[in-house]
Amino acid sequence: MVRFKCTLCGICCSKYWVPVTHLDIWRIMHYGGYKPRYFLRLYPAAGYKSTMPKVRLKEGEGYIGLKRYVNGVCVFNVDRLCIIHKFKPLTCRFYPFLYVTSGGRVLRIEVNKDAIGVCPGLILDGKPIDDETYNNIMQLAKARVFEKRLYADAVNRWLSETGGKYGFEEFIDFLIERAKKDMAMLVYKNLWVK
Ligand code: SF4
Ligand code: SF4
Repeated sequence: MVRFKCTLCGICCSKYWVPVTHLDIWRIMHYGGYKPRYFLRLYPAAGYKSTMPKVRLKEGEGYIGLKRYVNGVCVFNVDRLCIIHKFKPLTCRFYPFLYVTSGGRVLRIEVNKDAIGVCPGLILDGKPIDDETYNNIMQLAKARVFEKRLYADAVNRWLSETGGKYGFEEFIDFLIERAKKDMAMLVYKNLWVK
């Protein structure tokens, strides 16, 4: 079967930028005690593409994501290790797999083709992904889709309330307040992912 065991090489943490939802931000603050100004930045829509909702701010249009150093390494990667591993953004938890959706529903889990030949922990032998891995990622994907929807609601509310005339700092404060409420709802429904 497809086998995967992370070798902790850190390649994926320097190859990609990581867009986040308000709930990803909240996990990092809540469990790690990090201040959002330390780890977040706005990625301009002109230079970056994402399936995440785009936000309009005083500084321009774009996506909220984790900061990276000039060499591309994520701000949370130290000596090739993720220092927020237990509560890292959900995006980071899928690699080297991905989920496929249709009509807002998760259809299946696949190997991320971009990871083939890049991620040394991924070994392909032509057989399917093992059941345990598949089911774990499927559960996570469903949570991710739900959290993205909540994030889209937050962004829409931001745009309708402000028209995008306030800045990055105000938007982060707004997201944190939304995240507290949404986390409480997810905990109540037993859907919260640490
Ligand atoms: S590229 Fe693959 S093996 Fe390396 S850190 Fe990322 S997931 Fe692990
Ligand atoms: S949050 Fe962790 S896993 Fe995700 S890119 Fe940063 S260091 Fe890598």
